[in-house]
Amino acid sequence: MSINIPRGTKDILPGEVEKWQIIEEKAKEVSARFNYKEIRTPVFEHTDLFQRGVGDSTDIVQKEMYTFTDRGDRSLTLRPEGTAPVTRSYVENKMFGLPGQPVKLYYIQPMFRYERPQAGRYRQFVQFGIEAMGSADPAIDAEVISLAMTVYQELGLKKLRLVLNTLGDADSRKAHKDALIAHFEPRIEEFCSDCQNRLTKNPLRILDCKKDRDHDLMKTAPSILEYLNEESKDYFDQVKTSLDDMNIQYVIDPTLVRGLDYYNHTAFEIMSDAEGFGAITTLSGGGRYNGLVEDLGGPATPSIGFAMSLERLLLALEAEGITLNTEEDLDCYVVALGDEAKKKSVSILNDLRNAGIKSDKDYLDKKMKAQFKAADRLKARFVAILGEEELSKGIINVKNMESGEQKEVRIEELSTFVKQGN
Ligand code: ATP
Ligand code: MG
Repeated sequence: MSINIPRGTKDILPGEVEKWQIIEEKAKEVSARFNYKEIRTPVFEHTDLFQRGVGDSTDIVQKEMYTFTDRGDRSLTLRPEGTAPVTRSYVENKMFGLPGQPVKLYYIQPMFRYERPQAGRYRQFVQFGIEAMGSADPAIDAEVISLAMTVYQELGLKKLRLVLNTLGDADSRKAHKDALIAHFEPRIEEFCSDCQNRLTKNPLRILDCKKDRDHDLMKTAPSILEYLNEESKDYFDQVKTSLDDMNIQYVIDPTLVRGLDYYNHTAFEIMSDAEGFGAITTLSGGGRYNGLVEDLGGPATPSIGFAMSLERLLLALEAEGITLNTEEDLDCYVVALGDEAKKKSVSILNDLRNAGIKSDKDYLDKKMKAQFKAADRLKARFVAILGEEELSKGIINVKNMESGEQKEVRIEELSTFVKQGN
């Protein structure tokens, strides 16, 4: 009996993997351009990290974690998101003491969530994320948003919608929280059990509920924007001004709440408006989390970040009909005829590769015609043909597949000849 891949996961095969490489390359290159450095954290962490760092009342912690006990009786969890691990590492490695502040980091790592699999929602998926830690300058909020937009735009996406909100500071949130409780409490029994639990713990999360999103009380819920104090209002205005200065367009949505507990001030999502994208249109989400570093044992460190999954980015590209250039070809294919020539082709190929030339040969004992076919299929620019006669003269016949022109070249000069692209 054969064994299948686990639900919600997938293999990325040659033919598809090239797209991933292009996207990953773009994410890395744009990050470097914005002066962000890569960080890699373990695939699993102590379960406590996510309970504290993501928040007990979130969907991730309540329903989605892959938690297991290891042989030493520790509770560990496969990383469901990147911010808590990066923050853990920031504190543990005392990055707050580094001379270069803010610390600007990015990651491209698989995440694991036990979700109901569907298009754009998997149990293992890859997130590209950014964390800028140690600055409370609204301009860095705009920088982080701009970085995400740049990656999408340079890959060719056009139908993007940046949705922006602010959650305010602690005081504004407190005032808003009280207003939300007063709003929902009288009719809370009409809401799902999750929302009933959220009412006193974290009523903001009710606005993020997927089950009750059409309830009439959702539309009339008090907006955070009415409860912002001067400082929070001013912060939000400065973020918007910086975005305006960079010609980045956005829409304000006061109901935008991020799923995680640690956000304050700026919150944003980037959506795809492409037709045929399907039900899930969020490409990425992020925001400011000024309290998290302190919650995890470090000094007060204002921070902001975002995460996007590469899976949803690929879906958006597909929905907009954008094909990435994944064309691959070969510089040289060595065709060998006869036993001696075959033996010699091993060292010829070795020399080509050492010279940096992308090359290959036949390993299935194919006839000449079939070897040429293979060279064609691999889109070889040159085919180098070695028979007994050439071998005895120390030469090789090189055919330029584009022009059809054929030339005799000394074997030891093959690499130079191919490199010159004759
Ligand atoms: P959603 O509301 O779609 O469940 P979320 O709030 O759980 O999203 P975040 O935790 O903010 O998402 O993760 C950031 C980004 O990671 C999302 O915008 C999305 O691009 C991606 N993402 C989240 N969950 C998945 C998943 N199960 N499969 C693929 N991508 C995902
Ligand atoms: Mg989710």
